[in-house]
Amino acid sequence: MGLSKIWVFVEPSGIKVSSGSLELLSAAKRFAQEVTAFTTALVDGEFSETVGRYGASRLIVVSDLDSRLSGTTAAAVMAARAVGEDVPDAVFFAASYEGRDAAGRLSAKLDRPVLTNVVNLVDQGDSLQSEHAIFGGNEMVTARFTSSAPAIFVIRPKSFVAEENPVAVVVESVSAGDIGAAGGAKVIQSHAEERSGPKLDEAAVVVAGGRGLGQADKYQLIEELASLLNGAPGASRAIVDAGWVPYAYQVGQTGKTVKPTVYLAIGISGATQHMVGMKGAKNIIAINKDQEAPIFSIADLGIVGDVQKVLPALIDAIRARKS
Ligand SMILES: Cc1cc2nc3c(=O)[nH]c(=O)nc-3n(C[C@H](O)[C@H](O)[C@H](O)COP(=O)(O)OP(=O)(O)OC[C@H]3O[C@@H](n4cnc5c(N)ncnc54)[C@H](O)[C@@H]3O)c2cc1C
Repeated sequence: MGLSKIWVFVEPSGIKVSSGSLELLSAAKRFAQEVTAFTTALVDGEFSETVGRYGASRLIVVSDLDSRLSGTTAAAVMAARAVGEDVPDAVFFAASYEGRDAAGRLSAKLDRPVLTNVVNLVDQGDSLQSEHAIFGGNEMVTARFTSSAPAIFVIRPKSFVAEENPVAVVVESVSAGDIGAAGGAKVIQSHAEERSGPKLDEAAVVVAGGRGLGQADKYQLIEELASLLNGAPGASRAIVDAGWVPYAYQVGQTGKTVKPTVYLAIGISGATQHMVGMKGAKNIIAINKDQEAPIFSIADLGIVGDVQKVLPALIDAIRARKS
């Protein structure tokens, strides 16, 4: 293990630690002796215990977020602490809205470069080499910081597996204080998206629909199948752009990365920009009327057929089996 200190920006999902943050904590623990987590979340005993269980020995909690933007405020606190002996070897951010915001601001404050869109990190002894998927995931490039620490990485979700690695965690509460003009931006309202099943990027089963559904109201069949399988509904960008479903449903290069046990691609052609977000699924089932559709090249099970016939029949069969 080459590095001595890695910092991780930890984000909440509701009142829990987000799955993406658990992935980053696990990766950090793999590469460094000491992991420090920073968060602006409301922290209770379970939150801090989870952070320790995934390898961080210190949790620094910003106590005065006060409706300011999370990433902005966290970056100010991190920059103030990244001095002298306390400068970490690397800082990990998730490729989330707040993570990207915090990484960019920390990079500017410390005058250090940032490497984004990281999909893997390799231990090089005294540094980390990063891997980045480019051209829709068709090519990989490797990169390494040659400048002084910290190395700032923005890491795509599902790049690392969240693994428990328990250590005792010390919680420290800090005040961000006055963060200047950046603190002027405030969250005045937030809206929690309604959802009945699991989250798209955490679901064991994802049922995704594409333009092959034909029209917007057919998407309810996707939701029905997802609900029967206790999974999450997803979508290709084509139907997000068409306004059939919200952006939060989009899987792919400019949407979510998912790695479920089962991914059903229904009426989705399999453009590289879609596949880069789901090809890590353990089992891929594709339904498409065109047997030449690229999605079949990565499918474990392919059904060549019309979704209008296959999908209702599949739903009926699962319902019959459940009853
Ligand atoms: C910079 C960039 C980023 C992008 N990011 C993303 C991204 O994040 N996610 C994403 O999904 N896309 C993304 N795209 C768009 C991507 O290139 C494709 O345009 C998109 O994925 C196509 O969506 P689709 O498969 O639903 O539609 P189409 O490509 O139109 O495919 C529809 C499929 O349905 C099949 N079909 C039609 N009728 C039926 C039927 N009755 N029964 C069965 N099958 C049927 C057709 O054979 C076809 O294969 C991006 C593009 C760019 C340029």
